[in-house]
Amino acid sequence: MTAKVIDGKAFAAKVRGQVAEHVAKLKADHGLVPGLAVVLVGEDPASQVYVGAKGKQTVEVGMNSYEHKLDAATSEADLLALIDKLNKDPKVNGILVQLPLPAHLNSDLVINSIDPAKDVDGFHISNVGLLGTGQKSMVPCTPLGCLMMLRDHHGSLAGMNAVVVGRSNIVGKPMAQLLLGDSCTVTIAHSKTRNLAEVCRSADILVAAVGRPEMITGEFVKPGATVIDVGINRIERDGKTKLVGDAHYESCAAVAGAITPVPGGVGPMTIACLLANTLTATCRANGLPEPKGLTA
Ligand code: NDP
Repeated sequence: MTAKVIDGKAFAAKVRGQVAEHVAKLKADHGLVPGLAVVLVGEDPASQVYVGAKGKQTVEVGMNSYEHKLDAATSEADLLALIDKLNKDPKVNGILVQLPLPAHLNSDLVINSIDPAKDVDGFHISNVGLLGTGQKSMVPCTPLGCLMMLRDHHGSLAGMNAVVVGRSNIVGKPMAQLLLGDSCTVTIAHSKTRNLAEVCRSADILVAAVGRPEMITGEFVKPGATVIDVGINRIERDGKTKLVGDAHYESCAAVAGAITPVPGGVGPMTIACLLANTLTATCRANGLPEPKGLTA
């Protein structure tokens, strides 16, 4: 079997198009322009690239982008004061603090100081609790992107066996909650899981979020299963830097029914979902109906 490739790049472009359409309508009908504030502390090169891409795509869908670049030595008090200002600013509908923060800043304290209604990354403890109890919340962007692609590919996910490999707060756990919300039978695997390959072979949906290049190989995959590869790893191969996932693409694609590639799979969906969340936050803040198909 050769797996169908789930094209995250094309899907993300479609999502951005839907967001742009809603944004244009918000402007025309209500005079509203959603605003996303991104806060970057320090000069981490990867974070600078992400923040640049987020700002560019925010403007491309017709939203306002507010970038706050702070010195690496910024004090916690100054960062909290900025977040307080953004929380109170009616032009700002979404706030994202780029992680990781420099070591002297308490990430949990900083994230939990964001107004939960503007927490477009979905990391605030209130949103984590709402998602965990099946209530309306802001949903973390990467797992939301995975869910959208799965729904698009399968229609209903009800009754499917899903295995999520990885239990981080930003990917593994919210991914598992979302799959449970769509009535999958969910297993969360991690570094202490016994017989991991066997556990994975029980999955109709296998989500790889381990942060280990190409760890999930074809022998972990049930024939015909859908493999969602969240991993982004830079490796050196044949003297070149290459981007690979947490799944070994060739061996998994030979067994799976469908698979997301790296690059061009989950990655592009993350920013598209950030824009979708900013739109959702704007609609909720103004008592307007939420866009269909862009939330969990
Ligand atoms: P973390 O390092 O926070 O979590 C990794 C998880 O994988 C942990 O739960 C860990 O288990 C588990 N794990 C590690 N080694 C093994 C193993 N040998 N067997 C089974 N489980 C293992 O990573 P993240 O969740 O932040 O990220 C996961 C991947 O997703 C990374 O490749 C990252 O780059 C990528 N990513 C991609 C994004 C995108 O936009 N596409 C966004 C965010 C992340 P334990 O808890 O027991 O230690």
